[in-house]
Order: sequence, then C-alpha cells, then structure tokens
Amino acid sequence: MLATIDLRSATLGPRRLREVMPRAEYDVEAALETVRPICDDVRDRGAEALYDLAERFDGVRPTHLRVPAEILALALERLDPDVRAALEVSIERARRVHADQVRTDTTTEVAPGGTVTERWVPVDRVGLYVPGGRAVYPSSVVMNVVPAQIAEVGSLAVASPPQRDNVGELAGYPHPTILAACALLGVEEVWTMGGAQAVAAFAHGVVGTDGATCEPVSLVTGPGNIYVAAAKRLLKGLIGIDSEAGPTEIAVLADASADPELVAADLVSQAEHDPLAASVLVTDDPALAEAVDAAVARRAAATKHSERVSTALTGRQSAVVLVDDLDAGLDVVNAYGAEHLEILTEDAPAVAARVRNAGAVFVGPYSPVSLGDYAAGSNHVLPTGGCACHSSGLSVQSFLRGIHVVTYDEAALTEVGPAVVTLAQAEDLPAHGEAVTARTDPGSGR
Ligand code: NAD
Repeated sequence: MLATIDLRSATLGPRRLREVMPRAEYDVEAALETVRPICDDVRDRGAEALYDLAERFDGVRPTHLRVPAEILALALERLDPDVRAALEVSIERARRVHADQVRTDTTTEVAPGGTVTERWVPVDRVGLYVPGGRAVYPSSVVMNVVPAQIAEVGSLAVASPPQRDNVGELAGYPHPTILAACALLGVEEVWTMGGAQAVAAFAHGVVGTDGATCEPVSLVTGPGNIYVAAAKRLLKGLIGIDSEAGPTEIAVLADASADPELVAADLVSQAEHDPLAASVLVTDDPALAEAVDAAVARRAAATKHSERVSTALTGRQSAVVLVDDLDAGLDVVNAYGAEHLEILTEDAPAVAARVRNAGAVFVGPYSPVSLGDYAAGSNHVLPTGGCACHSSGLSVQSFLRGIHVVTYDEAALTEVGPAVVTLAQAEDLPAHGEAVTARTDPGSGR
C-alpha cells in the first residue's frame, strides 16, 4: 500500500535526501493563493465576512461570533464525565511539564558598573487556534492554553470553527467538547471562527455584529490544516506565529526488533488526521517493511476513517524508505525533520539521542505518538513540513519575549568606550561613536 523509496547503496547528502523524501503535493506556498482573498475579505469586511465564510466552508452560520459565557458553562455542565476526567489528566500532566519551562530573568555583570539583564516578558495578547474541520481537537485547547496561562500572557482568546452538527442551544457554535475544555481551563474569550479567516480576524481584530469586539492579537499559535498554516505564513509580521503546525506527519525509524503491528498501528493513527497527513517508515530491514505494509493495508481497510486514512497513506507524502543501516536511517530522518519521530530499534534511547531534527521524539515501544497527542504531558502543537529543522513545538517560551535591559554607569561606559568608537569607525558610522564620546568626553564634537 505504501510506496517504496529504496535508498540502499545511495550516498546522498542532506540536500538531496530532503529532495527524495516524500512530501505532500499541495504545499503551503500554493495554499497562499487560496487564503489571500479570504484574509483580505476579513480585513475589509470584518464580521460580515466571517459569517459568510463560515457558511461557505463550515456549512453553518454562527449564532454569535463570540461565544457567550452561559454557552461555555452549559457545554461544561453537559460534558461526559469520562471525557472530563481524561481532559483533567491531560491538563494536569501538561501543567507539570510546562511549569518546568518557566524562564527566570538573568543578570550578567559584564564589567564593574555594567550589567545586561534578560527579562522574560509575556506577550500581551494571543489568539489560540483550535482545529475543528474533519476532526475536532479539544486536546488542542489544552496544548495551546496551558503554556499560555503558565507564561501569564496578558489576555488570550480561542477560536474554533462552528459545527454544523451542533443542536439546540449549542447550534452555530464550536464543538461542545472544545467549549467545555475552554471552560474547564477558565478561558472566557472564545470565538466561533475557523480556518484562514480566524487567523486573519485575530491579526486585524474584528467587531461582531452584536458589538462584541475581538481586539487584535500580537501572536497566533495552534495547529490547523494547510489553510491555517498558509494564513499564518501570510500574516506573519503583522502577527507573530509559533511555527507552521500543519497536516500531521509521523516518521518511524525501525529495525528488525520492531513489532510490525505496532509500527502499522502508529502509521495509521496519524493518517487519520487528514488526507494530507504523512506516514513514513524508515528501516534497514526489508522483511519488516513488507510485514508493516501488509498490516497497514489490513488496518487501513478496517479502521473507522478508512477513506481518509487510505488517501493519506497512498499520497505522495507517505512511503517506506529502505536504508542500508541505522546510521543511514538517522541521516534520512534528520534530513526529513518529521513533526513526530518514533524510534523503534534496539537500544532506542541511544538512537534517539542522535536525532537532531524532529518536532518530538517518541522512544521505544510504549511511547506511541497517540500518547503525545493527548496525555504524555508534552505539547502536541509541533512544526511540520520540515520546519522542525529550525523551529520548536509550542511551549511556555513561545509566549515570552526576552528583553535585554542594559544598565552601564559612567565608569563602565568610559572603560568600554574606545571599543565602541573603533567599531563605529570601522563601520563608517562615526555618529555612533560620537554618542559615546559626548558622555565620556563631553567637550568633544561641539
Ligand atoms: P481546521 O480547523 O484546521 O480547518 C478547518 C477549516 O479549514 C474550516 O473552518 C475552513 O475555514 C477551512 N477550509 C476547509 N476547506 C477549505 C478550502 N477549500 N479553502 C479554504 N479554507 C478551507 O481543521 P481540520 O481540517 O480538521 O484540520 C486539522 C489539522 O490540524 C489536520 O491537518 C491535523 O493533522 C492538524 N494538526 C496538526 C497538529 C500539529 O501540531 N502539527 C496538531 C493537531 C492537529
């Protein structure tokens, strides 16, 4: 079922490896052309555009763009107790891991009387995107909100698309479990808007027809499909973004010691997200590759979202990559930079320690990606499309800015002044040097 890319006996450098690795046909760059008019429409027509776009893409007109407090409370009241308990486990573990990411200010005394302090300051206002198209993701509420709250951002708003299946009082709002998860976490500002238009509304701000106002945000985070990722790329600059957390990817680096059923289950699990999801097996064992392929075909045919899974697994973004040995396999996975990378090999921790590029690494047979999706404590908002080579997953750090605070007294400036003047002259920017000598030698330059 999976295509095979045979790299045995090939000696390819990282650039060529990146080229031969499977990637989705529909890239974010192409999706920019789709989302540009959507984002412009939201900028120009505000709330009216959001209502129209929801009708067009989500098949339902929102009741209110801003979800009223009583609707959030109602969703929590109606939440299945088992789902509530599972969400509480997820929240508790995420809080423990993310609490350890808090940054403390550091002060370096560079010279007597001269200090540089790095002050960590939370972003004033953030927009958190929670997907709700093919699947709904209350887990993404947890993954966005927990680090933002721990970072102590000034204000936060959540957006998620309206669901056409909602009935009664909840009709025309995001999915009830998403609303309940927001209420459970104490989130008060929730907006009924999805896709690229939600990112644009966060970036430009919007006033609802009922007068409710979504103030512009400084930063938009959260996962989403290719349109969400493209809107983040388009509006980056006007807003900050976390990373492009687009359609899910799983790469599994496995050797003969791996259980083909577990490998297949994990490849199918991530294909369930999106027809553009990528499932890639990298192995030095052709017999394992064959057994995994058979198990994948069987599981894909039997699973609930069989059509979506099969489309993802047979798409050009999914494949089995055959390599000569684990060293070559590590070169391949490091060039690929998967969002999720599983290591199912002998001495998996030692192999995992050699991974340089991945959104998150899952080590050994009892750490499947699904665990990280919900309840490992790690964050599931992770860079896709090779962005793991330069970006990290969502964390407390994503919501902070480090501001350097420079405090020198006269003696400290006098001591270092000649170095500044020399460098300023070397750059042919003498006025820079004069700003120093005006202090250290006040008569000069008059
Ligand atoms: P979504 O909320 O991301 O997208 C739904 C929205 O897409 C709709 O509201 C609509 O506005 C827009 N849309 C749909 N078709 C469109 C079209 N033809 N043109 C323009 N806009 C269109 O929900 P989803 O579709 O279920 O996607 C969720 C995605 O999030 C999946 O790809 C999943 O893999 C990914 N995900 C990624 C991570 C990560 O960290 N990388 C984590 C969880 C989920």
